[in-house]
Amino acid sequence: MAFESLTDKLQNVFKKLKGKGRLTEADVKVALKEVKMALLEADVNFKVVKQFTKSVQEKAIGQDVMNGLNPGQMVIKIVNDELVNLMGSETTELPIKQGNDLTVLMMVGLQGAGKTTTVAKLAGKLKSKGKRPLLVACDVYRPAAITQLQVNGEKQGVEVFSMGDKQNPVDIAKAAIEHAKSNQQNVVMIDTAGRLHIDEDMMQELENIKANVNVDATVLVVDAMTGQDAVNVAQNFSDKVGIDGVILTKMDGDTRGGAALSIKAVTGKPIFYVGMGEKLSDLEQFYPERMASRILG
Ligand code: GDP
Repeated sequence: MAFESLTDKLQNVFKKLKGKGRLTEADVKVALKEVKMALLEADVNFKVVKQFTKSVQEKAIGQDVMNGLNPGQMVIKIVNDELVNLMGSETTELPIKQGNDLTVLMMVGLQGAGKTTTVAKLAGKLKSKGKRPLLVACDVYRPAAITQLQVNGEKQGVEVFSMGDKQNPVDIAKAAIEHAKSNQQNVVMIDTAGRLHIDEDMMQELENIKANVNVDATVLVVDAMTGQDAVNVAQNFSDKVGIDGVILTKMDGDTRGGAALSIKAVTGKPIFYVGMGEKLSDLEQFYPERMASRILG
């Protein structure tokens, strides 16, 4: 992991300074150079890195070193706290309504990001919390996507609503909501079509669904392994369709953490969950604290 040795690096920088009671500007600058390098190596957005190091610097200079810590540990503590801040401080819950009130989620993302898998993972999670989800196959361009959703839905014991590939996604979504209402299902999850790249048709289709269906939350699924591309994709969807938050997939393979660190700072949208593997149980809530510890090692 690019970040793995950040704590060690900082400790080394500060070894010579052991015993000093206050962090001087020169000390902090040396440490921040290391932090900056590590963040850039991790593919964190450049502007975010700049802002981040600036705020660590402001907080660290002149700071009294806490009892029991050496100056290196003190800077690491400040860096840790700022990393947590950067990622939004607290875990953000998906906005699912209480009781039997119907929640409609629209799941969006590029092809291959892991959307279909994630939709099924999430349905399983909601089911285990006592919800009754309905998965809706709105990717009418790829019959294989419909089949995949059906296979995954079956594994999770969650119904999949499909009208094949000849109907308009707006009509499918509307019919699915009626179906959910008459079958006492309370979370409708619309699996929309993804493309390989962002294109106008895809965005237009998502806007159409949103304009015609009462969507409570739009959730973007992005691949963490694509680093800054994931952040750009999130920004694009946020600007064009509007999103309420993100699920970052393939965090098990992401050794750098750049996307996780930048998404909230760049788009202002929280990360709800992270995908940690291919199995349908591999979905975890996102904890900024844990991510910061993983980065600092
Ligand atoms: P979609 O095109 O966005 O619907 O993507 P899929 O759901 O078909 O997923 C694409 C590939 O990514 C599949 O091989 C999934 O098993 C894999 N995948 C999805 N989420 C994760 C994850 O969190 N970790 C890993 N390692 N693989 C994942």
